[in-house]
Amino acid sequence: MSDNIKLADLLLPNIDKTPDYYETLYPARNLPEGARVTRVAPSPTGYLHLGVLFASLVNRITATSTGGIFFTRIEDTDKKREVEGGIEDIIGGLNRFGIVPDEGFISGSEQKGDYGPYQQSHRAEIYQTYVKELIRQGLAYPCFCTAEELEKIRNEQEAKKIRTGYHGEWAKHRNITFEEAKQLIDQGKPFVVRLKSPGNEEHKIIFEDAIKGKIEMPENDEDFVLLKSDGIPTYHFAHAIDDHLMHTTHVLRGDEWISSVPKHIQLFKILGFKVPKFGHVSPIMKLDNGAKRKISKRKDPEAAVHFFAQEGFMSQSVIEYLMTVAASDFEDWRRANPDKSYKDFKFNLKKMSVSGALFDGVKLLDVSKNLVSRLTSTQVYDYVTAWAQEFDKDFYDVLTKNPEYTKAVFAIDRDVPKPRKDIAKWNEVKEYFSYMFEEYYKPDFTLPENIDKTDAAAFLEAYAKVYSPQDDKQTWFNKIKEIAPTLHFASETKEYKANPEGFKGHAGDLSTVLRIAITGRRNTPDLCSIMAVLGKEECLKRIENAMRG
Ligand code: GLU
Repeated sequence: MSDNIKLADLLLPNIDKTPDYYETLYPARNLPEGARVTRVAPSPTGYLHLGVLFASLVNRITATSTGGIFFTRIEDTDKKREVEGGIEDIIGGLNRFGIVPDEGFISGSEQKGDYGPYQQSHRAEIYQTYVKELIRQGLAYPCFCTAEELEKIRNEQEAKKIRTGYHGEWAKHRNITFEEAKQLIDQGKPFVVRLKSPGNEEHKIIFEDAIKGKIEMPENDEDFVLLKSDGIPTYHFAHAIDDHLMHTTHVLRGDEWISSVPKHIQLFKILGFKVPKFGHVSPIMKLDNGAKRKISKRKDPEAAVHFFAQEGFMSQSVIEYLMTVAASDFEDWRRANPDKSYKDFKFNLKKMSVSGALFDGVKLLDVSKNLVSRLTSTQVYDYVTAWAQEFDKDFYDVLTKNPEYTKAVFAIDRDVPKPRKDIAKWNEVKEYFSYMFEEYYKPDFTLPENIDKTDAAAFLEAYAKVYSPQDDKQTWFNKIKEIAPTLHFASETKEYKANPEGFKGHAGDLSTVLRIAITGRRNTPDLCSIMAVLGKEECLKRIENAMRG
């Protein structure tokens, strides 16, 4: 038996399988030519972050648009940073945004698919099997360096102005013999397993990033850690094993990993695996005092996806907005295909921003207003009440007191050919329609400067006599026009414009008086509809109050 094999048995005595076992267990996927297999691999260390949502969207549509598979994998090798409910928060959050995985974790507690377990803490034996094989082949070795020894090496490198790290002649245990290792193991010394890197810093590797294009970097020569002293793999090693066995074709991940690509390519090659296509997604940026920076979990509320739910954005608005960030040609496509699902868009990774797109809150509002304007009143009712139930209990009670009435309110200027585009998120609804609910209505009879109080009162008195809630828009306005001349107002704006000195104002000014009397505002959706929903009694009450000033 060779020393390497003895060393492998010494270090990992409980591992009795070989990689062949897993290669057979997880055969190639049966997918059509060109189908891409993608994944998102979050660590359950906190809430769903905008960056993870964005990367998940990119992975999801890449798989969808090629007839492939998108799966989730939980990277929970760092138990210290894990938070309770983290998996549920992330996977549940993705589901709520309509990003539904085909495989892997489909909820906080369920996984599906033939390539599991999809949780790294349950895969220790798989990683160790492959590490054992590398040791057997002399491609990996145990390192017994303590933190102090590593620190000493580092200090010495710094003093000599040499690149720091465990490489080349600085890799102290690189040539450790079986006997030396055995002695240390017998003394109960902890060890990590390192890769015996065949790389040379002077050599360059070139790879084609699916998003950023051609990238050149020095080859990796660091004997980086594969397995930590507790038998748990590092991210690098777990990534290579998992994405190989799960047959990921495209590793689309945050661009903080770009500097690790030389390590990853080296690992795939040493392990005899096909190297997947890498694509590095640039972070979403923010302008801060004129400078572009990454959205920060600490400083920016919108970093936590929960923020959007709290504000009352529909999940499809956020996704629609993120599609505009992901693909520079999405907006044109959307204009040409207003009714299609974004999932029908032909997504191309090459059209993604290389430097990091700016988060544009105004655009999000716009995109959202458009989508909200296309909803029916019943849909708006369902969305707003669901939102209010969670985030504004009083409003929920008001909205649901008389659902038919509330739906009639939401139908104002909706279900028409050109609906208004005023509402972007549900937390705006209470203020927007406050005058439709007695609990929130605050009268305010402040008139525009060009309108005299006495004229206004005279108009309202005359109007109250002729008003009927059955009036259609035309009749409604004709009644105002008919009153106008009796108060020396022009019936037609044209008439007034031709001779402004001859009139006190025009019928439009009088409709503003009515609007203020009924709603306390100068701008509202269609007033005739508002009055019809409020009902005659309420309208006359408000008109009378206004007349009294
Ligand atoms: N767990 C890694 C992270 O959260 C995943 C990176 C990857 O997608 O490979 O950053």
